[in-house]
Order: sequence, then structure tokens, then C-alpha cells
Amino acid sequence: MNIAVNPKKLIKGATGDWEVVIGLEIHAQVNSRAKLFSGSSTAFGAEPNSHVSLVDAAMPGMLPVINSECVAQAIRTGLGLKAQVNLRSVFDRKNYFYPDLPQGYQISQFKYPIIGEGEVLVDVTPDETITVGIERLHLEQDAGKSIHDLDPHNSYVDLNRSGVALMEIVSKPDLRSSEEAKAYVSKMRTILRYLGTCDGDMEKGNLRADVNVSVRKIGDELGTRCEIKNVNSIRFIGQAIEYEARRQIGIIEDGGKIIQETRLYDPAKGETRSMRSKEEAHDYRYFPDPDLLPLEFTQSYVDELNAALPELPDAKKARFIAEYKLSPYDAMVLTLEHENADYYEAVAKSRDGKISANWVINELFGRLNKEGRDINTSPVSAEQLGGIVDLITENIISGKIAKDLFEIIWVEGGNPREIVKARCMEQVTDLGAIQKIVDEVVAAHPDKAEQAKTKHGMLGFFVGMVMKASGGKANPATVSDMLKAKIGLE
Ligand code: ADP
Ligand code: MG
Repeated sequence: MNIAVNPKKLIKGATGDWEVVIGLEIHAQVNSRAKLFSGSSTAFGAEPNSHVSLVDAAMPGMLPVINSECVAQAIRTGLGLKAQVNLRSVFDRKNYFYPDLPQGYQISQFKYPIIGEGEVLVDVTPDETITVGIERLHLEQDAGKSIHDLDPHNSYVDLNRSGVALMEIVSKPDLRSSEEAKAYVSKMRTILRYLGTCDGDMEKGNLRADVNVSVRKIGDELGTRCEIKNVNSIRFIGQAIEYEARRQIGIIEDGGKIIQETRLYDPAKGETRSMRSKEEAHDYRYFPDPDLLPLEFTQSYVDELNAALPELPDAKKARFIAEYKLSPYDAMVLTLEHENADYYEAVAKSRDGKISANWVINELFGRLNKEGRDINTSPVSAEQLGGIVDLITENIISGKIAKDLFEIIWVEGGNPREIVKARCMEQVTDLGAIQKIVDEVVAAHPDKAEQAKTKHGMLGFFVGMVMKASGGKANPATVSDMLKAKIGLE
């Protein structure tokens, strides 16, 4: 819990500083081939209403049957969030009328969720890590989708999504800025993807958040919150919080009061607007679903799932720092996606960890980003990148040539060592040959050589000239030393 107030996170108002308080309800679609209470497929992008069983369509007399894989996924997630796993939980009916929910109620968990309190470590910046409390995680059904833009007179409904399992993960109101909230969602996404319990695809709506925002003067009780529904990108979550906090501060400073309400974020306008007030809020008349027994499992089942969990991001990050001597920042970047971490380890095992990290982060990630690709479609394999790192550490190629080599392999593929040999890319180790170039370059620029004695920056000019004349194959450090001696520096 964040007790100390960080002045940098406060928002300046006309009457002084304000603290923003944020709590998030994340809806994460469970990775599972079948829905929560039926055998229908969860595949994305199918023909409308092609994955709808009689249970999903809520035909009379149909009975829900719990999908044990969804239960296992929720337990794994709870374990990953260092949370209390409840061996007994209860499914309730949350009653409301919605055209894309044919049952007339959503099966959810209310009083007795499958997962209780937990916590998540969040890196807000390379030097600031906060702990965010988890209030609970429960399983519930997703609704279908109403489609209003296909016909001028009718609305259509697609029930493919209806009944798909969601995990609702509720945070405590522990977040204090839009940056913290964004970092929290990003970390949650990373954890879920490591666990394999949700793919975190926000574009498909598989991870979305209800964002609760309030403001207060430092030391005051929690203020009245507004809930911004269904925000489906990390950037929009940040923008919605910034707008909403300032809106609330403006109202209070003008002598008004915040009314608890549900709002929507409009990314095009960059504003939130009211959807319904608390007075209009539904009375969901929750009650235990009489069609489902309480959900019960044993501690030994939980232990079994726990033993099979993969290494999670925090542990991996700590291990990368210790084992490969990485900075916390590099370790964080390399462990954001487990595929990236695996790639890095394949390069760094038996090689210099820091040089490997530089090549993976700067060259490879930089290039992948530029082309909108990810590690799974990288044209340069870990083995090939490792080969490049070997050639650098064996002093066979310079860093400059290594970049050319990377480019060749990116486009043409091939074995790094063979390419270097075939194209004569080896670093010039013949000191006499380099000395000759140094002598020539200095002789060609006598006035600049004179200036370089007093103007240190001038040395770079000469290093550049010599490197160029050597076709990039001289060692820059050697060149620099020779030039200093030749010109008479130091
Ligand atoms: P509800 O069931 O009405 O949605 P909860 O108490 O479960 O209410 O809270 C929902 C979310 O709102 C949680 O993530 C919680 O952290 C957050 N929250 C609660 N009070 C505040 C507040 N004053 N300011 C900001 N967020 C809050
Ligand atoms: Mg809520």
C-alpha cells in the first residue's frame, strides 16, 4: 500500500495540490477452447452466431456445467497474483436485462469469489516499484454483442461471445497517477500472458478495464469516485484518468460535488461523459445460482497447479539481474514478454550478458519495432544473433561491421562466421596497416591536426576519417590511441 504521498504525482489546482486515487476492475478473457458453462468454441472472428449452444442461447431447461479448465486458469492466475485461493466459492445470478445476454442474468461470483486478496509489484519507472493490492478475482460470463450499424431499422445480435469465461480482477484503490495505472495494466497483462491464462489482446477486447477515479486533498478520506467503463487500450486508460481527474478537481474547486456515476471515455474527443448516475444504477438482485453447486476443490489440486506454474516475470527479472549482471531496466525490458526473455537467454547463455542484452534490445527489438514485427517472426534467430556477439567478443569484427552483418543476416539469412569470411569483413588486426592509414590521414590535414592538440573534439573527426578509410574494419579504440600518439595528445 502506498502510504507516503509523492509530490510529483499531485495535480495542481486553483486551490492547491490534489491527489488522484484510482482502482481498476480488469476483465480478462480466460484462455480456454470452450466457454465457461458450455462446450461451444471461443474462437475469435467466426461467422456471427456460429458458436452458440442451447445453453448459450438460454433455451428453457438447459443447465450450465462448469468448465474445469476455466477454473484451473482462475486458480493459476490467483497463484500468479500471490493471492488467497478459496477452496469453496459460489456462482451467483446477477440479474439485468440486456439484449445480448439471453439468460436475462449473468452468472458471476459475488460474495464468495474463487480468489481473494493478493498483490502485484509494478515498475512505474526504472527506479520506482510500487505494490498494488488485489481485492479479489472472480469468474463470470461475457455477454454477446449487439450490432446497430448493419441495418437502418433493426439491431442484430451476435452471441458468439455470450458465455465466454472472464476473470474480473479488482484492484484496491492503490494507484495514484495515470502512469501508475498504465504500468499496472501492462504488468497485469505480462503476468497473464506468462501464465497463459489470458492472451492480453486488447484490440480484440480480450483485456479491458473499468477505471475508478476520485480526487482528494492530501490526508483527506477517499473522495467520491466515478467509474469509466470498458476502456480497451492502455493509452486510453491514461488519457481517461487525466481528463477525469481534472474534471473532478474543476467541479470541486467551483464549489460543486462529485456525483457517483458511470461514465464512458470518448477517445476521439479525449473526454469522459456520463452514462448513468448511481440513482439509475441497477439493483442486480444477486442470489446463488440454483443450477450450480458451490465450486469446491482441494488444496492438493491447488498445489499441483502451483508446482506446474512457469517462472513469472518478477522472478525472471531478478534472476536476469543476478545471473547476467543486467541493469534492472534492461532486465525489465527483456522480461516483458516471455518469448523475448527466452530469446535473450538463448543468446546470453554462455556469452556476455550485457553485450547480448544490448544487441537484443537495441538492434533486434529496434529493428523489429520499425517493421511492426515481434520476436516470433524475427528473421534473425537467437543462434544467428549469438554468432554475431561471438564475432564481436572474439575481436573478429568491429561493432560497426557487426551492424552491417546484422543487416545482411536480416535480409539474406546465413551463418555469421561464414558471411564474415566470405565477404572479408574481419577487423584489421594488422597494426602496421592501420598505422599507415593514420599517418596518411594526419598528413593530409596538417592544420586540423594542429587544432586537435588543443581542441579535443577534433579527434573524433580523425577517428571517423581513419575508420572510413579502413572500410570500417579498424578497431576504433586502437585507431584513437594511434591518433593521439601521432598528433601528440596527452
Ligand atoms: P463496486 O462493487 O460498486 O464496483 P468496489 O468497492 O468493488 O465497488 O470497487 C470497485 C473498484 O473501485 C475497485 O477497484 C476499488 O479499488 C475502486 N475504488 C473504490 N473506492 C474508490 C475511490 N474512492 N476512488 C477510486 N477508486 C475506488
Ligand atoms: Mg464494479
